[in-house]
Amino acid sequence: MSNVLKDLKDYKVFHYFEEICAIPHGSGNVKALSDYCVAFAKERKLEVFQDEAFNVIIKKPASAGMEASPAVILQGHLDMVCEKNADVDFDFEKDGLRLAIDGDEIHAQGTTLGGDDGIAVAISLAILDDDRLAHPALEVLFTTEEETGMDGAQALDCANLSAKYMINLDSEEEGVITVGCAGGLKSQAAFPVDNMAFEGIEYELCISGLLGGHSGAEIHLGRANANKLMGRLLFALRKEMAFGLIEVNGGAKDNAIARDASASVVIPEDMCALAQQLIESAADDIKNEYRVVDKDICISFTPKGPYNDGVLTFATAEKIIYMLFNSPYGVQTMSADLPGLVESSLNLGIVSTGMDEITMTWAVRSSVKSLKWLINDRLEYMTELLGGEYTWHGDYPEWAYAPKSRLRTLAVDIYEQMFGKKPVVSTIHAGLECGLFAEKMPGEDMISIGPDMKDIHTPGERLSISSTKRTYDYVCRILADFR
Ligand SMILES: [Zn+2]
Repeated sequence: MSNVLKDLKDYKVFHYFEEICAIPHGSGNVKALSDYCVAFAKERKLEVFQDEAFNVIIKKPASAGMEASPAVILQGHLDMVCEKNADVDFDFEKDGLRLAIDGDEIHAQGTTLGGDDGIAVAISLAILDDDRLAHPALEVLFTTEEETGMDGAQALDCANLSAKYMINLDSEEEGVITVGCAGGLKSQAAFPVDNMAFEGIEYELCISGLLGGHSGAEIHLGRANANKLMGRLLFALRKEMAFGLIEVNGGAKDNAIARDASASVVIPEDMCALAQQLIESAADDIKNEYRVVDKDICISFTPKGPYNDGVLTFATAEKIIYMLFNSPYGVQTMSADLPGLVESSLNLGIVSTGMDEITMTWAVRSSVKSLKWLINDRLEYMTELLGGEYTWHGDYPEWAYAPKSRLRTLAVDIYEQMFGKKPVVSTIHAGLECGLFAEKMPGEDMISIGPDMKDIHTPGERLSISSTKRTYDYVCRILADFR
């Protein structure tokens, strides 16, 4: 094992973090880390459960004098996102992460660090390992496959947990106490491909240079979505002429705002000049509208030469253009409980032309269950009216903001006492496992916190050392004061 973090030994959390980083633990590959946690518990004679999903629960009795305090769950997930730079030789199945320290930050050379959510595991193990700490009875819960659909939390049998309070350690900004999250689902419309012959000049229509971003956390920024822009450009052509659509593709992930899109179209020869004009004019409008929030949008319309072959039938193309142009997108409702926060949204993440069908994929989110299903209904209605097939999956529940929360009140008070300023109390427009726990353990009083991290899920991921120390002290203090 490496020993890069040895100089941080005043905080045992870094010792455990380094141990965790030495064990490969990408999503789908968590057994070794799960077993490590079980062995940790057994060595210390702590009660431990491991289930078939490799979730781990470790229990530690209250410290002397705190037996009467209510038990608290500390929770995080074992799996990490595996991303590496293209030029890095690294095998996430068997290599330990190559840690490095740069100023106040820890990173892994060329790869994700898995501070999300390894630091939660490290903080929890360090607390379990310190018999000098004052704390109520602890139930430490490590879940699995959070990053790929929260499968561990879905599979978890909560019968082994009795605490009514939970501190989730899967947040990435110190000073922010998260107290609610959106639920969501993924959905897809599929339209059968039907071809006809068409003659003219083939053009490649490309949209690129968009900022993109996370379809939950960044949806309120009003950035452009390349798939939606494509709908607008194709409609600009369709409004003035009959043209052939060969294919349309865009975006890479349902939960990422699409950064690029392309379409192959066939324009009748005598309409080419007009088509160029229409695209240029629409492109000018788009660039003007997004000049502040998405200023590097690039739209090109390039002739490829004469074409006389199959294109989508007009009827099929019409459905695709209609859907791209008219389907709702972006923020749908804002929260009335917590002003300024997004309540409902959707993102048309992927458009893809295959051999037999053209598919569109959305990520739908809302912190109000009925609004999530309302958006889903709207997409389903549009799709089916147009003769497409609509499916949805991966539904996960929201964690609704609780007007009253003893844990939240305590966490806010202690934060102010320790750091001399008020924390931000907020909900997030993205999924957290807390949504599943809220459903499985009704009435569970929860907060989510964590140390400062940057660029999670990318090889640029950074974890702040000083923030980790403060967060560790903060968690310990909440536990000590939880009487
Ligand atoms: Zn996470």
